[in-house]
Amino acid sequence: MSPNRILRLSIQALGIAILVGLSALLLIHVLDDYRLILTQARERSRLTAHYVAHDLERRFYGIEQMFLGIGDLLTVLGDSPQAHTLIEAVLKDRQRREADFMDLLVVDTQGRIRHWTGTGTPPSVTDRSYVTAHLQNPDSQWFVGPPQWSKVHQGQRFFAVSRAFREPDGHLRHILVAILDLQTLPRAYVEPGLDNLRIQLKSNTGNVYFTVDGISRPRWERPSAWFGLDDTLGTATAVPGTPLGVQARLGTDAVLGPWLANTAVSFSLGALLSLAMFTAFRHIIRQQDRLDFLATTDALSRLTNRGHFMALARKLFTQSRRYDQPLSTLVLDIDDFKQVNDRYGHSQGDRAIQAVARLLREHCRDSDLVGRMGGEEFVMLLPNTTVAGALATADKLLKAVEDAPLGEKEPFSITVSIGVSGRTAADSDLESLINRADQALYRAKRAGKNRVEQLAVPHS
Ligand code: GH3
Ligand code: MG
Ligand code: MG
Repeated sequence: MSPNRILRLSIQALGIAILVGLSALLLIHVLDDYRLILTQARERSRLTAHYVAHDLERRFYGIEQMFLGIGDLLTVLGDSPQAHTLIEAVLKDRQRREADFMDLLVVDTQGRIRHWTGTGTPPSVTDRSYVTAHLQNPDSQWFVGPPQWSKVHQGQRFFAVSRAFREPDGHLRHILVAILDLQTLPRAYVEPGLDNLRIQLKSNTGNVYFTVDGISRPRWERPSAWFGLDDTLGTATAVPGTPLGVQARLGTDAVLGPWLANTAVSFSLGALLSLAMFTAFRHIIRQQDRLDFLATTDALSRLTNRGHFMALARKLFTQSRRYDQPLSTLVLDIDDFKQVNDRYGHSQGDRAIQAVARLLREHCRDSDLVGRMGGEEFVMLLPNTTVAGALATADKLLKAVEDAPLGEKEPFSITVSIGVSGRTAADSDLESLINRADQALYRAKRAGKNRVEQLAVPHS
């Protein structure tokens, strides 16, 4: 393998290794980021659901404590008109303190309102589930009703929480009811930091009590469908002591949108970097090709230069020796070239050199090696060719050069002398083969030029 090919392969391997390394790093980073974002989002929704559920539990506990206090008061005060006034005052006081108490009621064993925070004639609540649940079920204690529209407060929705108070023998004594405003109750959970998060209070029968919605408009069309994460970012937590549950959900759109944008930017930058790297590597390879060309090729004739010719020829020589194949060489020199330069100018001399180089290329086979040895001297190495074959090629060349028209203003022609030699068993190196061709060339010059000569080869 040539050094240039090795360099080329190394650069390509390096390029691919860098690219694979960078892609792997990028992929790891992007996936890591993805996992981190999802983990954080799930944690956030879990914490929120947890917080809301426990806050509601605390509120229900507060309601129960209040009911117990009022229950005691009812037992102690009995049924006098003074007691009535005092109890209603207590109820009104409690209602004033909590924004989400729309009304507080004390209902008797017939299902009628006995005390309440409202004014005027109390409405009939005998058919309301927060009353019937306790009238019909002797074991009932707590009841959390479904959301419904208020009879007293026009256009407002509430849900009722009621507790039955009984005698030791199980007989109903009275029912305490808190009517909770569905508008004010969730207000505590609306914070500026709620963006992209939806909180819902639901019963196990599917009633939705309230929804606090901070979900912003999706920035991406359907990322949740791409990632199949529709449910993974939602967390549900039960409110202890009630049939209620809190669900917190994060919109995958907004969670993964920025991540997708970052990923797109990262991959675009990676692609640009790869492109830049490949352009640089291609430039290096081209530059190397050019340097190789300059180092091995003669600039004027475009033939192989002396050094490169000798290196390649040595390999062909060794091969022909190893496989015992014929190998011939031609050494060619332009006749009286000094005069050509003197008479027609140096540039015409250069043209003559180029013309001879072209003819040499035309008269050789692909497997032959042609080089310029310097000045107006050329050399050809013909593998698998006997001396007879080389002499025939030399004769053709001699004729072709003589016939080639030269000169622009002043036409002229040139001739060459050629020395030919063939490898013998006695030739231990390339130089001895070329030396003999050189000697044959001198003989051709001495014999009058424009001819082909070969030395009489001693039989080996
Ligand atoms: P002979 O027939 O004995 O070979 O005579 P010659 O004049 O060709 O021989 P000589 O080697 O004495 O002269 C070669 C000349 O070739 C000398 C030099 O000026 C000229 N020459 C060498 N290289 C170049 C070249 O690249 N371009 C041109 N124009 N002339 C060159
Ligand atoms: Mg010459
Ligand atoms: Mg010469």
